[in-house]
Amino acid sequence: MFKKILIANRGEIACRVAATARRMSIQTVAVYSDADAGAKHVSVCDEAVHIGGSAPRDSYLRWEKIIQAAKDTGAQAIHPGYGFLSENEDFARACKEAGLVFIGPPSSAIKAMGLKAESKRLMGDAGVPLVPGYHGADQDPTRLQGEADAIGYPVLIKASAGGGGKGMRIVERSADFAAALASCQREASSSFGNDAVLIEKYVQRPRHIEIQVFGDTLGNYVYLFERDCSVQRRHQKVLEEAPAPGMTPQLRAQMGAAAVAAARAVAYVGAGTVEFIVEQKPDGSMNFFFMEMNTRLQVEHPVTEAITGQDLVEWQLRVASGEALPLQQDELRITGHAIEARICAESPDNNFLPATGRLDRACWPEHVAFARNADGEAFHASAPVRIDAGFGEGDVISPYYDSMVAKLIVHGDTREQALARLDVALAQTHIVGLATNVQFLRYVARTDSFAQAQLDTALIPREEAQLFQREPLGLALAAAAAIAQTLLEERACEGHDPFSRRDQWQSHGASVRPFEFVFRDEAAKAALTCGHDGSLHLVVGDSAGPLQFSALPDGLELQFAGARQRLQVYRRGETLHVFGAAGATQIVEVDLLAHAGEAAAEVGRLTAPMPGKVVSFAVKAGDKVTKGQTLAVMEAMKMEHTISAPADGEVLELLYAAGDQVAEGSELLKLSV
Ligand code: ADP
Ligand code: ADP
Ligand code: MG
Repeated sequence: MFKKILIANRGEIACRVAATARRMSIQTVAVYSDADAGAKHVSVCDEAVHIGGSAPRDSYLRWEKIIQAAKDTGAQAIHPGYGFLSENEDFARACKEAGLVFIGPPSSAIKAMGLKAESKRLMGDAGVPLVPGYHGADQDPTRLQGEADAIGYPVLIKASAGGGGKGMRIVERSADFAAALASCQREASSSFGNDAVLIEKYVQRPRHIEIQVFGDTLGNYVYLFERDCSVQRRHQKVLEEAPAPGMTPQLRAQMGAAAVAAARAVAYVGAGTVEFIVEQKPDGSMNFFFMEMNTRLQVEHPVTEAITGQDLVEWQLRVASGEALPLQQDELRITGHAIEARICAESPDNNFLPATGRLDRACWPEHVAFARNADGEAFHASAPVRIDAGFGEGDVISPYYDSMVAKLIVHGDTREQALARLDVALAQTHIVGLATNVQFLRYVARTDSFAQAQLDTALIPREEAQLFQREPLGLALAAAAAIAQTLLEERACEGHDPFSRRDQWQSHGASVRPFEFVFRDEAAKAALTCGHDGSLHLVVGDSAGPLQFSALPDGLELQFAGARQRLQVYRRGETLHVFGAAGATQIVEVDLLAHAGEAAAEVGRLTAPMPGKVVSFAVKAGDKVTKGQTLAVMEAMKMEHTISAPADGEVLELLYAAGDQVAEGSELLKLSV
């Protein structure tokens, strides 16, 4: 076994790999960029080497530097994680040439599976079922149009070199094909440096089911069952689970055999995932077709670890060091059910706009997967609750990398139990400082479709009404919590009763203290009356009644308007973040003294919500626009985001051009409103 490995990655996956290495008494070397100098992955490794600037091309993609770092520190092998260099055949080859073990498949297997079109031809020859389509080398637009017409609409045009859900266009009818092709080719050449496409029949209401495979250097192969990753947004996974609901032993065996055939066809070694698109027939049966093979450890590998009780990173290290697979096919079993939720820094209500900023507060649920014991970090593959986090309180989510903050993985005896654990664990995940999808994940998990395992890739759009622009707690509770928190803070620092500081609110009989809030973009007023006996009475919105609260060691208990709740409230300036069993919300408490006499907010500026690149402007100077209309498209954190008009108005001036890089808060255009 290796004595020392270098981990050529960052965030949660670098921490994940380091945890297993530590358990196996393997020394670890981290690499890091300028932005990651204080990152968690650096602190969990035994050594760390700085490799360059913050942009991936200046650091995590500089493979000569990484190989040099491995040589300088005496590492024998390199674990690439996922993303970055993990599927780079040149890097895999360069490692080998430098006398280092690349913990992954041979470069020839990466190459064979690297382009979707070529890999499909290969898989067709190996007898793996394919979606009807065209994967040929002839890229003449007339030929492509002819192929699409022959396949029958709708079709999907995919960038052959694509990944991460990018470079795909659904075409509903022949007349739209040419324009969609041109736009797909443009995106493919700018994102992947290769404009080749393939065309597939667009499977309606499909499921995404993938098989985890493993090979060793002795020619043995096994599959570690399946994962269902149908719940997606923008073709990217949101929730993943194993086993796949509704899977039969026969279908599992067929898909497993097809995945092993795929791996064998390219002499695969190590961990790999064969992704299938699954068509659901009206009679309940399922047809599966090969989609692509990801030649690396997958983000969602922990659900497989949970149901098999195996540590897949340990398997990777054993196989890479020349050992045989730890188990044979008939020794592998499925126990219980596991679900993973990807916790991302983003605003689901704002078209999943990624968020950057500091994790002022990051409270995770009780979890045991990497609990410390006398031997150091103990890994329990089947822990009921596991958190794989790359960041902790005080860390910054920067604009340079993707937006995943952590993964929450739950395991139960049954799917129902896993689902119940997921809901509780998400409720206990409190992140303050930037927007996250935690509440959205709870909504998704609670939809009828997900609860009843009616899975397909259109689940999120179908359940839209249950998922977006929802308010879990409501004004009355949020305002009551904010007032209770404010009074507790005042009491703590003044040691007086809540009204003493604000003498002006004392009047003859009872004293009334006004509050003003901004809740979901609307102003709200509240009035708190303190009776002679010290009892409090609150009027806010349509609710009125006695307010009672008391401090708890980890929050407060509050009773108002018929609700008795335990809540956690965190203050960030004037914004209070309220977490309760039903969900989380925010409310701004306007400090009436501090804001007295302030001018109205500035209007007419439209600024970049995050640092990134301007992809295009949809308007020009002089255009009249209506509220909500698309003004510009930006790209940041590997995704495109639409910037829309905050109000009706006229565009006065564009301040940047397509292709420009802009800082957060840069004014993009001037609007008169
Ligand atoms: P897949 O969907 O192909 O299984 P995963 O979701 O497992 O891929 O993510 C694999 C890698 O793709 C990760 O390293 C992640 O950083 C990267 N990735 C995720 N989202 C994007 C994106 N929008 N564009 C490019 N790469 C992405
Ligand atoms: P990527 O490399 O971006 O992961 P994939 O080929 O794996 O690209 O496809 C990503 C997702 O797009 C799938 O999980 C599925 O939701 C959808 N998809 C892909 N191919 C098809 C198809 N032929 N019909 C319907 N949906 C598809
Ligand atoms: Mg994929």
